[in-house]
Amino acid sequence: MPSPHSVSSDPVSPPLASSTQAPPPTSHRRAATRAIHGWRSSDSTGPGQPILAPLVQSATFEQGLLGAPQAHTYSRASNPTVSALERSLGALENAEPAVAFASGLAATHVLALAHLAAGDHAIVSATCYGGTVRLFRETLAPLGIRTSFVDASDLHALAAAFESRTRLVLIESPANPTLALADIAAIAKLTKAARVPLAVDNTFLTPAFQLPLELGAEISLLSTTKWIDGHNATIGGALVTRDAALRNRYAHLRKCVGSIQSPLDAWLTLQGAKTLPLRLERHAEHAQRVAEAIEGHPALACVCYPGLRSFPQRELATRQHRGIAGSGHGGVVTITLRGGLEAARFLARHLRTIIVAESLGGVESLLTHPVTMTHGDVPEAQRHAAGIEAGLVRLSIGLESPEDILEDLLPTLDALGPCGQRSSSTEVLRG
Ligand code: PLP
Repeated sequence: MPSPHSVSSDPVSPPLASSTQAPPPTSHRRAATRAIHGWRSSDSTGPGQPILAPLVQSATFEQGLLGAPQAHTYSRASNPTVSALERSLGALENAEPAVAFASGLAATHVLALAHLAAGDHAIVSATCYGGTVRLFRETLAPLGIRTSFVDASDLHALAAAFESRTRLVLIESPANPTLALADIAAIAKLTKAARVPLAVDNTFLTPAFQLPLELGAEISLLSTTKWIDGHNATIGGALVTRDAALRNRYAHLRKCVGSIQSPLDAWLTLQGAKTLPLRLERHAEHAQRVAEAIEGHPALACVCYPGLRSFPQRELATRQHRGIAGSGHGGVVTITLRGGLEAARFLARHLRTIIVAESLGGVESLLTHPVTMTHGDVPEAQRHAAGIEAGLVRLSIGLESPEDILEDLLPTLDALGPCGQRSSSTEVLRG
């Protein structure tokens, strides 16, 4: 894996200017530098300015001449700390400043509101975060917005799903929780031909390992709750685009529905974002080690990680998973236990270093059971078609020592026995 600090690892940056020149503008810096300094604006640098973006915890701002434009008036519309995070996230993808939301789902909500009205039609990955399915099925459908949930790894199925009123395509790749991939560049060709905007939920890889805008998508969507924050400290989301008018529309709709990120969450997220390339590289390294160590275990019907040779879409993963941290496949490993729900419960009860919780992307390793947690509201038939069964478990591999993660995981899997079904006398032995 190339170093995030080498020129070749950053496909969107020209070489650094010579030291005799003035510092280059943010957008021309290498990715690791942009992750740290991308939030800065011309009025935040110079003698006496703080090194960190100030946390401006204020609901409202003093106004000058009535009606005269000013940067910030009220923190539901914009806030200096939130704007700093937005500059940072935009800089990571060489885009306009992002629009930051109170959650990833709030970002998806505004994306839908911006592009869809009653009578319109959306195409959404059939395999995606359960909350996204719930939003389209339970909140948008009653407003007259129709959605086709389509297997986004099947280009023909996707092409066939377009209708005259299709106004948005939203795909998730890698998909939560199966890690099925969609070919973003190929889908972008389809959407461009149909003049329909393509949004990619890039939560699982982030710009560290995938750059949807470089691949032809118009919008990159992030739940910043996950790898961007990286410390399980905040809930947040973002929309990133290179289209300034679209960016302004998202910001306006956010003001209308009141779903901006809080200044404190933005401040915390901004600190996390600075180490994104570094952290993601390490998360991916640990995930690769864990996936390799448990692959073939008799208790497991399947170990799914795009870095494994056995991954069914290996060629696409290698081609597509390149971002500001070089190439890599993220920190999520999905396993299917032969023993189904009973085995998943056993694992959840006996793991110690790996914590059972909903979410992913933080320094702590987490186990999530999609059927009873994140995907509980997805209709059974849709879950079944996507391969989200009771024995499927999602592991977000953290930054603990991989040896400790494996010393937690392997004996617990061993205790499940060869069919993945625990015998009543089995217990997990630990040193
Ligand atoms: N997109 C993906 C891929 C997710 O996994 C999640 C949450 O798990 C979301 C969006 C929604 O993000 P949030 O929980 O921040 O609302």
